[in-house]
Amino acid sequence: MSISFLLVLSAAVLGAIIGSFLNALSFRFNTGRRILALSGKDGRSRCMSCGHTLEALDLVPIFSFIFLRGRCRWCGSRISWQYPLVEAVAALLSVLVFLSVPGPISYGFWLLVWMTLLFIVIYDLKHTIIPWSCSIFLAALAIIFLLASQVGHPMSIFGIWGLLAGPALAAPLFLLSLVSGGRWMGWGDSALELSLGWLLGFTAGLSALLLAFWSGALIGLGILFYQRLPWHKKVSVTMNMRSEMPFAPFLILGAALALFCHVDFFSQIYLLF
Ligand SMILES: [Zn+2]
Repeated sequence: MSISFLLVLSAAVLGAIIGSFLNALSFRFNTGRRILALSGKDGRSRCMSCGHTLEALDLVPIFSFIFLRGRCRWCGSRISWQYPLVEAVAALLSVLVFLSVPGPISYGFWLLVWMTLLFIVIYDLKHTIIPWSCSIFLAALAIIFLLASQVGHPMSIFGIWGLLAGPALAAPLFLLSLVSGGRWMGWGDSALELSLGWLLGFTAGLSALLLAFWSGALIGLGILFYQRLPWHKKVSVTMNMRSEMPFAPFLILGAALALFCHVDFFSQIYLLF
């Protein structure tokens, strides 16, 4: 096995382990349960149904779910798809980050950024809200990124563009929240977009925002259409035109496409000047 293959594999394993931690965090965050407890009732992970303390064999990211066929070893109740899905996505993100920025400091930084974004997606899907602590942490990372990119060429024209990208891209979302009192667009979404603008820069950030609106509209219409199908049984979540749909997952999907697939509709715009 070549060194590069081993490194990619390690990035995948590290991502899956962090994904497993994010799963635990998503069930404990803001619930009063201690997150980093190693003993006591908050310490070990337990089955949600029977409360049996889980052992090493139950806690291997992705593989435990596959080998146990998605059921608890003790009570046989179904384990949520959230577990393997988040672990797999975290592993994929870690590999994508490694392939785009293999240097250890850059990799560590962007891994932290993407794991924070992944946690925001999970939390927003579960609770349709973005925790402020996550927004503030992400904004701090974005500001560190802006400062670090200034090293060597302080206050260059690209530096000023980069600084303006955050507020400029967050402004339309902020206006939507302001006009609707937070109903059309959550306040947390503009806070998230501020950081995404800083992290992606103006042109990639704008592409990401457009992709977010398009994919959001597509999925929203898809859900509405699905609910009108005759064979569609009543699902637990019904939706209409005014339903609150979490938007952070779409903003972050757009950012992932812009960053990892290099979708940038506007990069050629500089050629016009
Ligand atoms: Zn159980």
